[in-house]
Amino acid sequence: MAEVPQAYLEDASGLTGHASQFAAPSTAGELAAILADCRRRLMPVTFAGAGTGLVGGRIGDGGMIVSLERFQRLEIRPGHAIAGAGISLKELHTAAQASGQFYPPDPTEWTASVGGTIATNASGSRSFLYGSTRKWIRSLTAVFIDGSIRAFRRGDRVDFPISPLPAPLARKHTAGYPLRESMDWIDLLCGSEGTLAAVVEAELSLLPQPAALLSGVVFFPSPHAALSAVDSWRPIPQLRMLEYLDNSSLRILSAAYNGIPAAAQSALLIEQQLDALPGDPIGLWIDRLDAANALAEQSWFGQTAHDRERFRALRHSLPEVVNQRVHRNGFPKLNTDYAVPIEASQAMLDNYVSRLEAELPGRYAIFGHIGDAHVHVNMLPESQADFDTGLPLTIEFARHAVSLGGTVSAEHGLGRKKRNLLAIEFSEPQIDAMRDVKRRLDPAWLLGRGVLFAPPS
Ligand SMILES: Cc1cc2nc3c(=O)[nH]c(=O)nc-3n(C[C@H](O)[C@H](O)[C@H](O)COP(=O)(O)OP(=O)(O)OC[C@H]3O[C@@H](n4cnc5c(N)ncnc54)[C@H](O)[C@@H]3O)c2cc1C
Repeated sequence: MAEVPQAYLEDASGLTGHASQFAAPSTAGELAAILADCRRRLMPVTFAGAGTGLVGGRIGDGGMIVSLERFQRLEIRPGHAIAGAGISLKELHTAAQASGQFYPPDPTEWTASVGGTIATNASGSRSFLYGSTRKWIRSLTAVFIDGSIRAFRRGDRVDFPISPLPAPLARKHTAGYPLRESMDWIDLLCGSEGTLAAVVEAELSLLPQPAALLSGVVFFPSPHAALSAVDSWRPIPQLRMLEYLDNSSLRILSAAYNGIPAAAQSALLIEQQLDALPGDPIGLWIDRLDAANALAEQSWFGQTAHDRERFRALRHSLPEVVNQRVHRNGFPKLNTDYAVPIEASQAMLDNYVSRLEAELPGRYAIFGHIGDAHVHVNMLPESQADFDTGLPLTIEFARHAVSLGGTVSAEHGLGRKKRNLLAIEFSEPQIDAMRDVKRRLDPAWLLGRGVLFAPPS
């Protein structure tokens, strides 16, 4: 066993962990032997993907870091891919595209690993149409702490009793284990954040590339105009992206991008598959922009891969530019990942804005997956007092989201950083039902210690 390289004790959460040993096996057999040995020695294990996680899941809390980066199988076949846990989303997307297909889930951070995206049930801007990672897994191979290697296909039911839990009414949900009676193994392992087993390989569904896509960045003179448009645009056929940027996000982006209109106070990013759509889809968008009082002349539309990539890069650069600003400010960012039912989207957003304007005016940005009623609030503290104001707001917002039928994590998971939020969404007996599953599969509580739950004393 090797020393732990510093990079594996960090991730995109900004937290730093600790561990004393490191391994990077390349076969399920090697990994199984390592885990069985850890179990014998009662050595905690944290699985590492690419470290793009935002909640400190892979940083280690003692024991061993086991990286899955050497699981590098990638085969593209008609309708599906077989991908090792260490394959990056970029590699998967590129290979699928070369075959005229695509992998629908699109978490914007393309350096993330297939294993990490399965472990967090990642989703992204295209999840508005296609749903999250879970839906696209046909089969997976997992290695458990007892050294067993098991392959599960869709429909393979968990073979022990489970106490079902109520699911939130939000369209996306990845807080804790989504326990249901006779649930699939795939549904249990996907989103379990490395606390139940390591995912070493998966068979993932691919779709044929759409023949034509329209993408756009539509600017609005007020937040209200954009939010009204969201409500009327959600039912548009084959719309696969509906993303929101508030005024502050646009001002932050203006520092890095030319052409954002000065009059714009909010924007929606859209992407629509045009295949087999009857009529004149472009003409329909012109009418929609008019009806929504958008800044039609200054909005951007395109139909080429280059345009799509330009708009995607704009959206993706936002969290990066926000992080740079946070770094300059010298105080940690406070961000949320809450989703609510569609009907509560407006109420949630109104609450965010009124509370943030009262408590941290000018020091926040709201952006994200408004189509799914899931936007990220980013508070950008400029002083310790700001940070101390923002931290309780994250809890207040979590409670509000849950009171509206929502969830405390729609796509990032809870990891170590946000595990305190689980108790806002679930009662203690419900969390106990999750702990029962954890104990069943990892009796000595060695995997992902401190992730989702405080370690048992
Ligand atoms: C700029 C930016 C944008 C982002 N945008 C999105 C977005 O749009 N949507 C979204 O969902 N997320 C987003 N994320 C978060 C992140 O990319 C996802 O959570 C991603 O799924 C993490 O993958 P990873 O390989 O980096 O995993 P890691 O960070 O290495 O690990 C994440 C968790 O999964 C566990 N794990 C990793 N690999 C395995 C494995 N093979 N088996 C079992 N457990 C494992 C780890 O122990 C840890 O708990 C973004 C992050 C950044 C920095």
